[in-house]
Amino acid sequence: MPSDAELIAKYGSLEAYYSHVEKQLPPNGCGECTACCYANPIPPHADADIAHGPHQPCKYLCEKRCSVYEKRPLVCRSFFCLWRSHAWVNKMEQYRPDKLGILIDVSHPPLMEATELWDGAFNDPRYRYILQKLQLTKLTIREFPYSLLKGANAHDRFELDGRRALKVIS
Ligand code: SF4
Ligand code: SF4
Repeated sequence: MPSDAELIAKYGSLEAYYSHVEKQLPPNGCGECTACCYANPIPPHADADIAHGPHQPCKYLCEKRCSVYEKRPLVCRSFFCLWRSHAWVNKMEQYRPDKLGILIDVSHPPLMEATELWDGAFNDPRYRYILQKLQLTKLTIREFPYSLLKGANAHDRFELDGRRALKVIS
């Protein structure tokens, strides 16, 4: 992966680079899903304006999804979930995060982070199928169960054992 400086030199800005990436994505639209706008914690160092804990809606999330979409911050532009970015789930809506109950962040390979949107979603056979597919690409998987993230805040870090987070370290 090129450095930010190299991307800026080539595309003019990081925003322009991520617009370019977005145009290459398969045609799996977000539909009614808003999972990345509430399930993913945004720490203050990533973006102080929209910092929030996990399972807390971003202040710009409204009925029509993002109210500042055209001007959304870089931390949002550079986020890609499995559904939006992988052609093999193309149009199989049962894999969309709001239908599956799991938000799978593949923005930072070889690390993949799976966040449970409700209790028990990690036990779904569809998730085991996804894991089988992704382990072929040798991604490292971190899992964040709903029971762990609920009540955590944007500053919390998580202790990890193998692929699953165990507890919050404040
Ligand atoms: S989690 Fe994925 S499908 Fe859902 S709103 Fe975010 S980018 Fe779109
Ligand atoms: S700014 Fe918009 S895209 Fe970013 S997290 Fe908030 S609602 Fe979602």
